Amino acid sequence: MKLIDTVRTGTAEPLPSSLYAAETTEELRRPLRENRDAEVVIIGAGILGLSTALALAERGVTPLVLEANSAGWGASGRNGGQVNSGLKHSPDKVARDLGAEAVRFAYGAPRAVKDLVARLNLDCDYVNGGGYRAARDRPGCRDAEALVAECIRHGIPAEFHGARRMSEATGTDRYSGALFDPEAGQLNPLKYSLSLARAARAAGAMIFEDSPVTQARATSEGWELTTPRARVRAGRILVATNGYSGGVLPRLRRSVLPIFSTVVATSPLPQALRERILAAREVLYETSLVTVYYRIDAAGRLVFGGRGGQCPASGVGSARSLCGLAEEIWPALRGQGWAYGWNGRLALTVDHSPGLHALAGPGLACVGFNGRGVALSTALGPQLAEALIDDRPEAVPLPLTPMQPVPFQRFWPTGVSIALGWHQVKQQLSFGRARL
Ligand SMILES: Cc1cc2nc3c(=O)[nH]c(=O)nc-3n(C[C@H](O)[C@H](O)[C@H](O)COP(=O)(O)OP(=O)(O)OC[C@H]3O[C@@H](n4cnc5c(N)ncnc54)[C@H](O)[C@@H]3O)c2cc1C
Repeated sequence: MKLIDTVRTGTAEPLPSSLYAAETTEELRRPLRENRDAEVVIIGAGILGLSTALALAERGVTPLVLEANSAGWGASGRNGGQVNSGLKHSPDKVARDLGAEAVRFAYGAPRAVKDLVARLNLDCDYVNGGGYRAARDRPGCRDAEALVAECIRHGIPAEFHGARRMSEATGTDRYSGALFDPEAGQLNPLKYSLSLARAARAAGAMIFEDSPVTQARATSEGWELTTPRARVRAGRILVATNGYSGGVLPRLRRSVLPIFSTVVATSPLPQALRERILAAREVLYETSLVTVYYRIDAAGRLVFGGRGGQCPASGVGSARSLCGLAEEIWPALRGQGWAYGWNGRLALTVDHSPGLHALAGPGLACVGFNGRGVALSTALGPQLAEALIDDRPEAVPLPLTPMQPVPFQRFWPTGVSIALGWHQVKQQLSFGRARL
């Protein structure tokens, strides 16, 4: 019998204020009030937990989902809304490190979102406009060209777009080139998460919100999970708590860097600006150390994400430097009005690949999407469902690895702030040099 300690994350918190929260009406939350038995329990109702719950329910297993706050409350309901493919590393390296199946899986992940949205008619403003992985300097541009060639060798659709095409597509001369991925897309992530929750419930899943798991004990029959009002006996569990992993599994929490990313959104832009910036509703992210990512949403707003403070924050006032960066890129944005600012925690891993881990009892944990979780966690749902039903982790196209603690993880807010500050200084120095 193994006792695992209690959770230390926020619970029963309202949806953080954001563009997405403003566009959505949250449904009444239903906490778990009586003891239950379940074959499979999922901890965390983000895209990963919900996609797995949906797949389990569609395969005739009734999962019970326990969520500390509400469906989509974590990164899933507040991200940049980009549906991107692949992992951080190139297909050759992914094939070497994780296997050829991982390459097929990671690059096919946006298709899983597109198919699911179409099959269940999910209301989430999904568009398959393609996406750029954009470089700002010559070495980055050469890397993009090499990556396109590598993708094509692996049978992955990709195109190289040079500086002129990028300038036409983005309305700025910031980019020297980019990989264009025609499979990429965009969606409203909170609408997507809530649609997934509705679809999972309709298929038979039981989702309980404001129901944090405060203790998880592996027993001879599976697990005993404690929530504030009731206990659940589970045959097996999936831990899907990503950047919000708390003290229930301390080793899991230490295996990721839960860094904050910040997003700001303008008011709907005038038509002339919409025609200049990603007019085909493509998405874009930059390949520099600190990523900048953006898209134009269904209402014509610029949704622009990047670095920010390393503590929970909301409101445009908390993200002034990000608004300033966007106005530096497109001076015509000045005076258009910034309407929303918010942030959330994503989970980075040491090797930049998602971690699939065995637990002290039957079940799995899957965390660490490194800012690419919208497509990856959607695509992982059916695979995790198979693995949980058959007790066969091999069904997941990622290797099962031990939980590796991130060195000095306890000091991450200070470390990340120093790294971001240093990066900003370096950028300003090179900007200054470029103007001399
Ligand atoms: C600002 C931001 C921008 C991003 N932009 C993009 C993007 O454009 N494209 C992309 O692909 N990815 C992006 N990401 C990453 C992406 O959002 C995540 O990878 C993905 O949503 C992960 O989903 P998840 O289900 O694993 O975790 P989450 O959505 O974080 O869900 C974890 C859930 O677990 C719950 N929980 C924690 N502890 C407990 C407990 N003890 N008991 C019960 N419940 C618990 C939390 O309340 C939370 O709801 C971004 C992330 C952020 C923060």
